[in-house]
Amino acid sequence: MYSIDLSGKTAIVFGVANQRSIAWKIAQILYEAGATITIAYQNERVKGNVLSLISSWDDVNTIECDVSSDDNIQQTFDEISGKYAKIDIVVHSIAFANKEDLGGSYRDTSREGYSLALDISAYSLLPIARYAYPLMLESGGGSILTLTFQASQRVFPGYNVMGTAKAALENEVKQLAYDMGQGNVRVNAISAGPLDTLSSRVISQYRSMKRIHAERSPMRRNITADEVAKTALYLCSDLSSGVTGEIVNVDTGYNIMGI
Ligand code: NAD
Repeated sequence: MYSIDLSGKTAIVFGVANQRSIAWKIAQILYEAGATITIAYQNERVKGNVLSLISSWDDVNTIECDVSSDDNIQQTFDEISGKYAKIDIVVHSIAFANKEDLGGSYRDTSREGYSLALDISAYSLLPIARYAYPLMLESGGGSILTLTFQASQRVFPGYNVMGTAKAALENEVKQLAYDMGQGNVRVNAISAGPLDTLSSRVISQYRSMKRIHAERSPMRRNITADEVAKTALYLCSDLSSGVTGEIVNVDTGYNIMGI
C-alpha cells in the first residue's frame, strides 16, 4: 500500500488475461489506492481468469471488449457512462501479433500480419481515447496510460513487427497528448523491460532478451511487474499532473547503454 489516494476516481483497465498480465498488476495497485475499477477483458477465453482474480474485490465491474472493433469499444464506454458518468483513468495494456511474425526475417512479415499487429497493438488506443475523452472531461481531466517496449527505437531480433507497432503507439501517445491536453487529459506510456507474461513468451528470442537485459543494464537485473505498477500509479495519479506525452522507461536503465 502506497500513500497515493485514488478514492473517488474511476478507472478502466484493458488487458488482463491472467495473474501475470501487467494490466493485472496495475489494476491491483489502482484498486489498493482506492480507485473504482472496471476490467475490460478480451473474450470468454480469459473471462474465468478475470473473475477469479477479482473474486475478493468489492465494487468492481467487468466488461468484455475485443478492441478489434470500434463498435465494441464504443459500447464499452457507453456501458461505463451509464454506470459511473465520468472516468479518470484508462489503462491500455494490449498487444497482439501472429506468432509467425514474432520471429524469423522481418522482411517476411505478411501484409495481413502487419495490419493485425498494428491494428490491435497501436490503433486500438485511438478509439479508446476517443470514447474516454468526453467522460474524462466530466471529471475535469484524466490520465491515459499505455505499455510499450524499447524495440520501438532499436532492433531487438525476434520482436519484429511488434517493434513497428510500438513505434506507432509511441507516436500516438505524443499526438494524443497534444489532442487532449486542453481538456486536462494526459497521455503517457511506460516502456517496460522484459517480464514473463503470455505475450512475451511468444517472442522467439525473449529468453536471451531477458538474460542480456539482466547482464547489461546499469542495475544488473531485470525489472519486476511491481515496479511497472508503481510507476503506473504515479502516472495515473495527480502526482504526475504536469506530465504528458512521455515514454517513461521502467527498465533498470537498460535504454541508456551503448553496449
Ligand atoms: P498479456 O498477454 O498478459 O496481455 C496482453 C493483453 O492483450 C491480454 O490481456 C489480451 O487478452 C489482450 N488482447 C490481445 N488482443 C486483444 C483484442 N483484440 N482485444 C482486447 N484485448 C486484447 O501480456 P503483457 O506482457 O501483460 O502485455 C501487456 C502490454 O505490455 C502489451 O502492450 C505488451 O506489449 C506490453 N509490454 C510487455 C512487456 C513484457 O515483457 N511482458 C514489456 C514491455 C511492454
